[in-house]
Amino acid sequence: MPVAPAFARLLPRLWWRWLLFAALLAVLLLVGLRVWQAYQQRVGTYRHQVETALRAVSQLQAANIADWRLNHMGDATDLASDPLLAQAIAHWLTAPSPEQTGALQERLRSLEENLRYTAAFLVDTQGRVRLDSASQGSLPEPDPLVRTLEGPEAHALRRALETAQPVAVELQRSAAFSFAFLGVLAPVYGPDNAPLGAIWLVLHAHARLSPLLQTLPNSNPSAESLLVRREGSWVQYMLPPQLGDAAPRDLRQSLDKAPQDVTVQAAQGERGILQGVDYRGRPVLAFASTVRDTPWILVAKVDRDEALAQAQRNEWLGMALLASLLLLLGGSAFAGWQWQARRREQALKNELQYSLQWLDSAQKAARVGYFAYYARNEEFFLSSMASGVFGLLPQQRMTLAEWIAMLHPEDRDEVLQLDRQARQQHSPLHVQCRIVRRSDQQERWVQLWGEYAIDPLQNTLRMTGTVQDITERHQSEEQLARYRHTLEEQVRLDPLTALANRRALDEALPLAWAQAQQRRRPLALLMIDIDHFKAYNDHYGHVGGDHCLQQVAAALAAALQRQGELVARYGGEEFAVLLPDADSAQALSTAQRLCATVRSQALEHLDSPVRGCVTISVGASCVYPENSTAERGIAQLFEQADAALYQAKKAGRDRAVLWTGPQAAFGTHP
Ligand code: GH3
Ligand code: MG
Ligand code: MG
Repeated sequence: MPVAPAFARLLPRLWWRWLLFAALLAVLLLVGLRVWQAYQQRVGTYRHQVETALRAVSQLQAANIADWRLNHMGDATDLASDPLLAQAIAHWLTAPSPEQTGALQERLRSLEENLRYTAAFLVDTQGRVRLDSASQGSLPEPDPLVRTLEGPEAHALRRALETAQPVAVELQRSAAFSFAFLGVLAPVYGPDNAPLGAIWLVLHAHARLSPLLQTLPNSNPSAESLLVRREGSWVQYMLPPQLGDAAPRDLRQSLDKAPQDVTVQAAQGERGILQGVDYRGRPVLAFASTVRDTPWILVAKVDRDEALAQAQRNEWLGMALLASLLLLLGGSAFAGWQWQARRREQALKNELQYSLQWLDSAQKAARVGYFAYYARNEEFFLSSMASGVFGLLPQQRMTLAEWIAMLHPEDRDEVLQLDRQARQQHSPLHVQCRIVRRSDQQERWVQLWGEYAIDPLQNTLRMTGTVQDITERHQSEEQLARYRHTLEEQVRLDPLTALANRRALDEALPLAWAQAQQRRRPLALLMIDIDHFKAYNDHYGHVGGDHCLQQVAAALAAALQRQGELVARYGGEEFAVLLPDADSAQALSTAQRLCATVRSQALEHLDSPVRGCVTISVGASCVYPENSTAERGIAQLFEQADAALYQAKKAGRDRAVLWTGPQAAFGTHP
């Protein structure tokens, strides 16, 4: 059955279920969409909140650092323009005394305390460190008193002296101290405006800046601010607050190797919100701000997972809800399908049961048994009716060997041959044969019909078919055939003389004609008429006439010896003889022989003017059928034989005449 029409037939019955299913699915999809949208919104909101916080933190801290730096620069400016300090330094430089040294050191210490510097030094114009706030060596190595400013500090000193303005030495790690620091060089001039040197103020970066970076108005534990700057192809970290001074000196990141790193992005000029990873490789959200007047960038960051954890929890919740709804829907669809399948199966079973019952009664009614033969185990499965036909018990199985043994020995080979043929040609087996019934050893006629096919369930060759006991039918058929045969014979027989009748002659003639034509042989016909039979009837009565006819007929039949010669009663007291393969001479001699035979019977005929016994006249004709049609040739045979017979009568009867032409007739007297 084509699929589309089958589906079309199913559709009207199931449409409402499909509709319900589709509607449920649509609702679920809508709910899913809403959950997804809500989640997206929520993530957006969270992200926005996080970004806002990061922006605020980053900008605030960058501004704080810039302000802090500016404040210190301002302090340094005040310091540079303090005339009392300049005077004291000028004095100490020309005539240092222990008292003045102590006083200056006290002054430097007060700078540290008041201006919150880590250390303060006095350097001369050559950059040599002349005095520190704690000459007792409280500062770490190397001893600054024996040091001369180098690098950025020396450069800053020169510029400070040139410009008469404090110059900052940017936040750095250098060999001067073990910690990251920020330096300021405030120039000092004597009363005659001659440069005396500078106050070198040092800020311990971690100690002073960390507090500014650690206060994040943010509840995320992973929130952290990094102070970084670009140095060549590297990002240099100054303040990773969680590591502090414990961090290695060269805590830095390669620009090429970590393009995802948010500090790398910042070092390459990105500002504002950044997404990427941090120095630990963790995904982060970050905000980068420039620290005013410095090459430093402040990157405030927070772990992405942590920041969006709440939203992600909601996402999982939504997804879980949707998944369970989908599972529920799928489960119900599956259960529905199962239920329907089971119902259909039950319906099929019922139908099958009904069909089997129906088949059984049909078999009983038709007296037809059903069988299935399985080639694999060479066994027949039989219906109860079939078991009855073979004379077996109901449900009894039959093996192939038992079946062959049951076949009548005379029919066995033929049945097996037909079976082989059916198997090879995949044609139906249709056979009537005799079996010897198992239960009573009776010979029965059965009619078998079967067809080979591959059993789809067992994947084996199987024949299914029917068997019917036709013994009674067969017997009546046989009787009928016999009766028919007799009838047919009788139809062609003359009841009085028991010779063939005219119908038999009419049927035999065309066959004889065709045979003669095929063999290129002549065909002869004799027409015989009893002489003065009317007179015989008149004298001896009709019954006597009949008796005479019988005796003449018997004499004629007895006189014919050759194979294929046929004598028939043509009508009344006329006979015809068909002589295949007889030429004119043979025809004439046979005719004469017949005349002599009848004459020799010497049947008394007192009223015959010919002689005192029954005689016959014979007209003989012979043709070669080559050049003529059967119809025309046979008509000619009759005409000529009749004409010859007429001539025989005319010539005095009791003789045979051969037809030789319309005028001349060749005849003989007895
Ligand atoms: P011819 O020598 O010229 O033949 O003379 P005929 O008397 O035989 O002439 P015709 O052939 O005319 O007569 C035939 C007679 O045969 C007429 C009929 O009464 C008789 N006849 C025909 N059929 C039967 C039959 O079945 N039984 C009897 N008893 N007589 C028959
Ligand atoms: Mg006649
Ligand atoms: Mg006659």
